[in-house]
Amino acid sequence: MSITLKSLVVTGGSRGIGAAVARMAARRGHAVTFSYIGNAEAAEATLAAIREAGGQAQAVRGDAAREEDIRALFDAAEDRFGPTAGLVNNAGIIGPYGRLDEAAPDDLRRMLDINVTGAVLCAREAVRRMSTRHGGPGGGIVNIGSIAAVLGSPNEYVGYAASKGAVDSLTVGLAREVAKEGIRVNCVRPGLIDTDIQVIPGIGNRLDNPALIPPAGRAGTADEVAETVLWLLSDASSYVTGALLNVSGGR
Ligand code: NDP
Repeated sequence: MSITLKSLVVTGGSRGIGAAVARMAARRGHAVTFSYIGNAEAAEATLAAIREAGGQAQAVRGDAAREEDIRALFDAAEDRFGPTAGLVNNAGIIGPYGRLDEAAPDDLRRMLDINVTGAVLCAREAVRRMSTRHGGPGGGIVNIGSIAAVLGSPNEYVGYAASKGAVDSLTVGLAREVAKEGIRVNCVRPGLIDTDIQVIPGIGNRLDNPALIPPAGRAGTADEVAETVLWLLSDASSYVTGALLNVSGGR
């Protein structure tokens, strides 16, 4: 089955990997609606870059973990650009850094709310709009997981690693659930990628820690992740669904 992507929803598109996906997707002819939580300046900068390159995009402020905001995000996409054809489930935070037994429960809850509940609810909303079962056009979902799901990330963020394990399970299960409804669901698992998320308050930039550098000898770029995301959303990957794909320089 052939799916031509048109309107794409990206959660957390103001900075980092989400911004790279938004820019690249718009350059390749998709109409992009991305969310952000608070950094209006970064959202504006991403929008400006897209428009300067002749692309179409809009930014919607909202919490990717809040049901009303999720609906509003997809509504905005449909109102302006027509039926949704793809979701990049990208918004995520590391949450408390350090040992699990030192982490504050409220900080862990907020992280799990965004990384797990938010990802599940966004995927749910996308399926309700794209599935042929609901009269939709079909489409693609790419969840942004992490290699932390398999590393476990002891002494850094075990809770975050667990949240990304949930993203893996969401991908595998949902891919099978909607495989006959015109929707492919895949997961990109970045490794060490050079974005703001690497800067841990009070600790420093994780990129400066030689122990974390992968076999490739360097951190990856957000654009390198975006390339894989865009491939998974394109017809070039038409028989790929339920895949967990590391973009991690060999780690
Ligand atoms: P950044 O911190 O650079 O960017 C995070 C983006 O998500 C921002 O646009 C931010 O908006 C937005 N955001 C955060 N919380 C919410 C929320 N509740 N609702 C809506 N938007 C939100 O992160 P990365 O680009 O590095 O990470 C993107 C994804 O990739 C995450 O899921 C992360 O776990 C995953 N990942 C990243 C890796 C890396 O090495 N960089 C490695 C493995 C996985 P605002 O600008 O308004 O704050």
